[in-house]
Amino acid sequence: MAAEASAAGRLFLITGPSGVGKGTLVSALLQRHPQIWLSVSATTRSPRSGEQEGQHYFFLDRAAFEAKVAQSGLLEWAEFAGNCYGTPREPVEQYLAAGRPVLLEIELEGARQVRQSFPSGFQIFIKPPSFAELERRIRGRGTDSEEAISRRLERARVELAAEAEFDAVLVNDDLDRALAQLEQLMGLA
Ligand code: 5GP
Repeated sequence: MAAEASAAGRLFLITGPSGVGKGTLVSALLQRHPQIWLSVSATTRSPRSGEQEGQHYFFLDRAAFEAKVAQSGLLEWAEFAGNCYGTPREPVEQYLAAGRPVLLEIELEGARQVRQSFPSGFQIFIKPPSFAELERRIRGRGTDSEEAISRRLERARVELAAEAEFDAVLVNDDLDRALAQLEQLMGLA
């Protein structure tokens, strides 16, 4: 793993299958490195319990989401498990221009789009120790319907097949170890 020289003004992107623990890893990273700005995505998915508008997501209906797409207000967007998700363009550009490290936590199709628009961005793929462990984590979350769970598992297989496209791959078997590796990759260690 090559350490990056400086995180300032750099675009970082994290992808990995649903349930791999990206959220926990990213929260731990932000606590330790508050200079990192985490992009807040727009989505047509309904809020899960405890999720706050503007903090976890901007929750939009389809029409409002499509209007954003039509106005080129999203840097990338994709459909995932029946809902649309996208990254608002303006704040990403503003924080990068201000010299802050910017972090996107998005799925594979979006990562591919960002690779085109920000070829100098650094893209990290987070994978589970095994598929069985991933399924256990997704089911253990207990917030999604059986249908949503199967769609997420099916999608996870597609995402796991794409790890070679990424600049770095990190196995999330132990939070502290994964966090230390992430910091090293981002030039924060
Ligand atoms: P969840 O519904 O579990 O919050 O997110 C489902 C998937 O959508 C996750 O893999 C997450 O990384 C991805 N996602 C969240 N925000 C965005 C976004 O702005 N763009 C894209 N392409 N994917 C996103």
